[in-house]
Amino acid sequence: MEQAAVDSEALEVWIDQDLCTGDGICAQYAPEVFELDIDGLAYVKGPDDELLQARGATTPVPLPLLTDVVDSARECPGDCIHVRRISDSVEIYGPDAE
Ligand code: SF4
Repeated sequence: MEQAAVDSEALEVWIDQDLCTGDGICAQYAPEVFELDIDGLAYVKGPDDELLQARGATTPVPLPLLTDVVDSARECPGDCIHVRRISDSVEIYGPDAE
């Protein structure tokens, strides 16, 4: 029961590279989750630390890093970091959050 509740709140994050300014704030706040690629834009990393180079790729947000990821979304000058609930894809933090 408790595990199900936790899972229903599990979050994932993705970046809209079309709006990324490449300033690297996210990679400073949460280098475990975000990294700039050679194209100068930020991408998310997978659980194995590999850079997911597909635009709009999603990765789970590890709970201990949630604050850093949320701070990144708040400070992102491009307003292009989206954090959403995995269970129903509702955006919780980011430009499309209610
Ligand atoms: S903080 Fe936003 S605009 Fe800046 S590099 Fe990260 S995703 Fe791009």
